[in-house]
Amino acid sequence: MIKILSDDTIQKIAAGEVVEKPASIVKELVENSIDAGADQITVEIKSGGKTYIRVTDNGNGIESPYVELAFVRHATSKIDNFEDLYSIHSMGFRGEALASIASVSHVIMKTKSENEEVGTHIEYDNNKLIQKKSIAMNTGTSIEVLDLFKYIPARLKFLASDISESNKITQLMYVFAIGNPSISFTYLKDNREIFNSNNTKNRLDNNSVLFGKEFADNYIDIQYETDNYKVIGSLSNNKYYKGNRSMQFIYVNGRYIENSELISAIERAYHNYIPNGRYPLYEINIEVDPDKIDINIHPNKQKIKFSFEDELLTSLNENVSKALYEANHPKLVENKIEEDKYTSFYEINADDSYQRVLDAYKAPVDFNQVNKKDKPDIFMEDSNFDDYANNADDNKNTDFIIENNLDLEDNIKFTNDLKEDTQQLSFDESSFEYKTILFSTYIVYEDEKNSLIRLVDIKRARERILYDLNKEKNQNISQDLLSPIIVELSPTEIENYELNRDLFEELGYEIDLFDSNSLAIRQVPYYFDSPSDSKFFTEILDGIDKNAIDTKNKILRSSIAIASKLSSHINEDQAQSLYNELLDRENPHTNESGKTIIYEINKDSFIKFIDR
Ligand code: ADP
Ligand code: MG
Repeated sequence: MIKILSDDTIQKIAAGEVVEKPASIVKELVENSIDAGADQITVEIKSGGKTYIRVTDNGNGIESPYVELAFVRHATSKIDNFEDLYSIHSMGFRGEALASIASVSHVIMKTKSENEEVGTHIEYDNNKLIQKKSIAMNTGTSIEVLDLFKYIPARLKFLASDISESNKITQLMYVFAIGNPSISFTYLKDNREIFNSNNTKNRLDNNSVLFGKEFADNYIDIQYETDNYKVIGSLSNNKYYKGNRSMQFIYVNGRYIENSELISAIERAYHNYIPNGRYPLYEINIEVDPDKIDINIHPNKQKIKFSFEDELLTSLNENVSKALYEANHPKLVENKIEEDKYTSFYEINADDSYQRVLDAYKAPVDFNQVNKKDKPDIFMEDSNFDDYANNADDNKNTDFIIENNLDLEDNIKFTNDLKEDTQQLSFDESSFEYKTILFSTYIVYEDEKNSLIRLVDIKRARERILYDLNKEKNQNISQDLLSPIIVELSPTEIENYELNRDLFEELGYEIDLFDSNSLAIRQVPYYFDSPSDSKFFTEILDGIDKNAIDTKNKILRSSIAIASKLSSHINEDQAQSLYNELLDRENPHTNESGKTIIYEINKDSFIKFIDR
């Protein structure tokens, strides 16, 4: 028997296309807020958006007489006719979202336009108008969506878990916030603020809120133009990455898109810069003549085709590669010294082979005169360098610094007659006066009388002390985390963890299996400042070598190294006490893996280095 469906059923079927999941509702509501000219948008969800979604904006609101119209299907203020579809700049334009949402949930809208004294409260449940009344409120609109699919249990059943639905919304909120730096987004999930972006128009400020504080210190910018494309973006450098692709955002003419060719063009540039299975974070904005792209304008799809795709892919890969290369090969001091005699920092980097470095160790005349056996620790042994080169755990973040140190040693120590005074690093402390902290990396002391400066590598000093203390006490103190850190891991990483679970426990970690592919870290060793993301843990796991002899020590070392990396900013007092603590150690010159902690440079060498 054939029969005509009821209006309500037709509404609900149509609604299914627009609002298939909580994230699609959030998307429609936020797009409406953006279209309304808001520069402050707050999104709040509970239980993955299933029980509660609220989107509040300070946009232009809806005048009372038109409020009901907004909930009528195909009612829109955004286009007049079919032709408009092609020139439209607004986000949504089919006039279906509010009607759809009202037909599958309980909706409360509060809205006031600028010209009105009072606002309007209107409420629908299961497609029926419940009430409409006047209320006092500021200009703008707030929409609450309660109990999604309450009357359509079959649809409710198809929703994923709360966690999975809320992850989709979180991801969407990042897409909005990163793509709209001129709008301040506040996002709350189950009563907890996830982020609050600024409407500063300053992409960097915004990015460090959204990509994590570390991003501010670890990003590279690209900006270029080709015949058909204009590209501007910020990407993480080789020291900051994630175990997944969740922080990769590409926009074309302001619209978020997904395109695997673009993703792989970018990721190929990172090959050899970051470990396998790790992914860069970035936002890339592409501008192109709209005639040269084909966007599928289904409301829930962001697929796109480019007319000059090769031009875009090639240029993107080249420009990201170039930026990464430059970021890793900084030219600090103009190198004017005679060729061949010394290997400079820049050359070491420009040519990856460290054979040259080893040669450089042998070459300089002064150095040859130093008896290797008597060589004080301040010289890095070849083997240490090897160790550094092979030893990825120590530390992606300090590659630059280590190489830089090497340069100091090459060019200052080796080229000057310092062998005597390096041997007798006199620890007559009274003559050294605290000066400052350089690059958050070195504490500077000066012995004015003897024209000496001393640089103390903060990170290594801290590692050394923590390492000693942990070894001495052989008892590891933990600290509770305010909320557990959930780490998503690959099956091999989980396995790697399981194998070493006891060691982690002995070292002060408390970790539970959270679900089949993630762990919940509840306690970390006391020396962590407050790790806020899970990356540190995968780094430790990645560093464990199945064949290592002393895995526990290895985990301890990389935990400490990472903890010190996470908290590199110290003030003068902390610097002083770190230094004093260090001097209490036997042999304070080197850290537990033999790397130099304290450098001494005399005035002449220093001037030569600067003015060479
Ligand atoms: P569309 O966005 O496609 O026009 P919607 O159903 O999403 O359709 O919204 C219907 C209309 O309601 C919009 O055209 C707009 O006029 C009005 N509207 C919806 N949300 C807001 C808002 N947050 N602020 C101001 N007006 C809004
Ligand atoms: Mg809309």
